[in-house]
Amino acid sequence: MEGTISLFGFPSTSARIEVLPRSTAWRGLRASAFFGGGLLLAPAVGLVPPHAPWVVAVLGIGGFLGLRKWKERFTILSFQGVCPKCGGALSLNPGTPLRPVMTVPCDGCNHESRLTTPIPWNGPGGESPR
Ligand SMILES: [Zn+2]
Repeated sequence: MEGTISLFGFPSTSARIEVLPRSTAWRGLRASAFFGGGLLLAPAVGLVPPHAPWVVAVLGIGGFLGLRKWKERFTILSFQGVCPKCGGALSLNPGTPLRPVMTVPCDGCNHESRLTTPIPWNGPGGESPR
């Protein structure tokens, strides 16, 4: 897939991205694992003084991670891009969740470029491509 890397004041460059689409089942499973883990862990950590903060923290973290998994519709497998400003190679770690608009830091000039992809991000689930 082709992405666009843009930085204000500089001509945009294109990026080659390989992504792995995540199915609803995959995301649901991971998300509920985090939610469920939080729910299972909460009573256990609630035994430890000062009780309530642990429960809130565990539920919060489980919910946060679960929600993040649910939103991970594509996972980046490989990324090749060029910085619009200095022409240096940009990289993203494999396994990074792809987001509609994300920033890619440049090691060369320390500018953060915007990466946009042609994926139709419609709605939170996105099961019905228009
Ligand atoms: Zn740069």
